[in-house]
Amino acid sequence: MKLPGLPGADDPVVAEVVEAAARLALGRRSAELDLAPEFPRAEFRALGTAGLLGLATSPAHGGRGLHLPRVAVALYHMAYLGGTTFAKLSLQPEFSSVLGDHGSGPLRDRFYRPMLRGECLVGNHVTEPGAGADAGSLSLVAEREGDEFVLTGTKSEIAFARDADAAIVYARERAGPNDLGISAFLVPQRLPGLAATVIPDLGERWMRRGSVVYDHVRVPADHRIGEAGAAFGYLKRELTRERALLAAIYLGVARASWEDTVRYVGERSAFGRKLSAQEAVSFPLVEDAARLEAAWLYVERTVRAIDAGAPSDGTAALSKWMAVETALGVLDHAIQFHGGRGYSKALPHEQRWRDVRSGAIAHGPHEIMHAVAARELWPRP
Ligand SMILES: Cc1cc2nc3c(=O)[nH]c(=O)nc-3n(C[C@H](O)[C@H](O)[C@H](O)COP(=O)(O)OP(=O)(O)OC[C@H]3O[C@@H](n4cnc5c(N)ncnc54)[C@H](O)[C@@H]3O)c2cc1C
Repeated sequence: MKLPGLPGADDPVVAEVVEAAARLALGRRSAELDLAPEFPRAEFRALGTAGLLGLATSPAHGGRGLHLPRVAVALYHMAYLGGTTFAKLSLQPEFSSVLGDHGSGPLRDRFYRPMLRGECLVGNHVTEPGAGADAGSLSLVAEREGDEFVLTGTKSEIAFARDADAAIVYARERAGPNDLGISAFLVPQRLPGLAATVIPDLGERWMRRGSVVYDHVRVPADHRIGEAGAAFGYLKRELTRERALLAAIYLGVARASWEDTVRYVGERSAFGRKLSAQEAVSFPLVEDAARLEAAWLYVERTVRAIDAGAPSDGTAALSKWMAVETALGVLDHAIQFHGGRGYSKALPHEQRWRDVRSGAIAHGPHEIMHAVAARELWPRP
């Protein structure tokens, strides 16, 4: 048996990805950023120049407007070549689609279009110390005062806590005693009253996650994105698309480690024969091949359905869950069958495992992915 070749090998966008990955040495940079975490500004700009930021973003907003199945294939290749780091960076405009789709023209011109060029990093501030998976109970408040909003509260677990130039901040909008629901605000990140702290992470260290305190931070009223109380509705569409695309990234990373491992156990001898002759080694690897391919087919079908406008919240959520679990299993086997070096930084597998592990929590924990799918089987009254 043999895994089919990588998907979309003759796609010109994939050729651009391969070329950028080689020119920017994305695999090596990803390993460097794990050891010395920082936001890779130079590569962010280079991806922008190469047209690899905003692959799925509408051309009206400055993106490439590619169909999601092609974007998924391109991300799969980018992750195969360079790990999760730059594939996720490429998705950053998609992670900020609420701004692209609902921000005013001036906000988009000032923050969103520069992001597509790799000149402006926009973060997402949803999670709070008291509200993560249960995002409906956010407590950061945005109070209207004249022609400004005043934001007060704390965001936690935030990627790019210190590095973002601006952030989409989800806050409970108040008008006097009235709670208008959750609204989104574009907040430049160098304003008075803002303070960020960073805490080292298990993986994806380049994101430099941390907390951001908003102590009466003032933004102009026109920095609200879209309508009052409408932000969760906007975010829902974004989450469905990004969960499916993240799944492609996790599978691309795992595929690279699976191929390395198949090669290695076919060459390495122990007890007078190749490791591949030990069924305890070969059987898990053939199972992994089937799991990788099955998960990819599921993800591919899901992105096609999203692209066609079919309701896909549940399958997108399960795509992320399935891809993360498949990838973690494959990466664990890569560590195991490479022996002592597999556990070390001499090889990329341990970093890949740590980086992919975040996928079971970020963009919604596994349990919430199941809840999203279950709600479709048993809709609430
Ligand atoms: C690498 C990474 C990057 C991130 N980047 C950002 C970012 O840029 N912006 C941002 O806003 N957030 C970000 N997050 C935060 C992430 O979205 C939250 O951590 C996540 O939503 C979970 O929230 P929490 O940490 O408060 O966990 P909690 O809500 O306290 O949940 C803890 C755990 O309990 C379980 N659980 C929770 N609810 C249920 C339930 N209903 N049923 C069963 N089990 C449940 C899950 O296992 C969950 O992991 C990031 C997280 C990671 C790991």
